[in-house]
Amino acid sequence: MKTIILVRYEEIFLKGLNKPAFEAKLVKNMKQVLKGLGPVNITRSQSRIYVEPEAEDYPVDEAIMRLTKVFGIASVSPVHKIETNLETIYEKAVDMTREITAKTGYKTFKVETKRANKKFPLKSMEVSRELGAVLLRNIPVLKVDVNNPDFIVYVEIRDYTYIYSEIVPAVKGLPVGSNGRATLLLSGGIDSPVAGWMVAKRGVKIDAVHFYSYPYTSEKAKEKVVRLGRILSEYNLGMKLYIVPFTEIQLAINQKCPEEYLTIIMRRFMMKIAEIIAQKNGSLGLVTGEAIGQVASQTLESLLVTNNAVSLPVYRPCIGMDKNEVVDIAKRIGTYETSILPYEDCCTVFVAKHPVTKPKLQKTMEYESVLNIDELIQKAVDGVEVIEIE
Ligand code: ATP
Ligand code: MG
Repeated sequence: MKTIILVRYEEIFLKGLNKPAFEAKLVKNMKQVLKGLGPVNITRSQSRIYVEPEAEDYPVDEAIMRLTKVFGIASVSPVHKIETNLETIYEKAVDMTREITAKTGYKTFKVETKRANKKFPLKSMEVSRELGAVLLRNIPVLKVDVNNPDFIVYVEIRDYTYIYSEIVPAVKGLPVGSNGRATLLLSGGIDSPVAGWMVAKRGVKIDAVHFYSYPYTSEKAKEKVVRLGRILSEYNLGMKLYIVPFTEIQLAINQKCPEEYLTIIMRRFMMKIAEIIAQKNGSLGLVTGEAIGQVASQTLESLLVTNNAVSLPVYRPCIGMDKNEVVDIAKRIGTYETSILPYEDCCTVFVAKHPVTKPKLQKTMEYESVLNIDELIQKAVDGVEVIEIE
């Protein structure tokens, strides 16, 4: 029996959005993640998407794993597509159920039927009851349990009939690329990958910028960020990662500005450079992993001074989260293990003992005005290395 993949998305996302454009984008993104697994036919019908592999030995499990990371998809099921007639339904459902019980040892089940095809002679309830009886007759170890079954045999009667028992939850959200671009300031930490993921989830394609202070931070620290970029790319469908040389700026700030203002001035430089890169890319906002009060540079006063450096909006999806909430998401999306690798970050190299927690904008601007701001920024932008992650 050939397995095809049924993809569900949530109607609610279609409100206010252009449904055909949404679906077309979703299908395009699905094709991109499935590339290399073999030829498939993708069709849409009644707010469902069906992926039909051409080959019998198509790697369905791998395809499902990839699809569960595609924003816009609510859930995925491996299903058997069969002719819509009662004989076939009974026969194939028995085969499928035998396979399930042999593999899992499950004993209790129920049948759930949906009849979208009203020409079919039996009602949903009747199909469930009849098929239940057929399964009990053919597979004697089974028992019906309508309240808490080990597994459910789903039957969907449409032009064709689809039978399945597995529903794999996916990430939901909106298809990447359906809501423009934004530029993520990606450190090697836990928060910023989560922030980028959350914005990408809303259909925004993310570019990432990383500030790198070689030789104060090592090649390993950069590799770690590239790895984080790769993990995010699985959701973001590729990513442009800009590596910005930041040493000269940090040394200049370190030499010429008061120690307690090092971090806040550095953050303003980061924002300004990220904004220049964003504007070159048609990106409509900046994204950071900041959360109120997490560190001195994330008090409301500090965020005000940081924001003031740029005119693009700065999105901070982690703003109201506790660290453990961010960690939970990081674990779920697969960035956590990489984020906790112990390589230094440029912020930890040049760090004040007592950073100011309530910086004043006026003072900050005075302190930084001794620097050749434009020249330093231009040099950093000229030295950018672009890494294209597929
Ligand atoms: P994270 O866990 O994301 O590193 P954090 O809690 O350590 O965040 P900070 O180091 O103060 O916080 O950085 C705040 C935000 O500034 C980060 O979430 C990130 O968006 C950005 N940022 C910090 N360092 C860098 C860097 N080296 N390159 C790019 N962005 C950075
Ligand atoms: Mg950090």
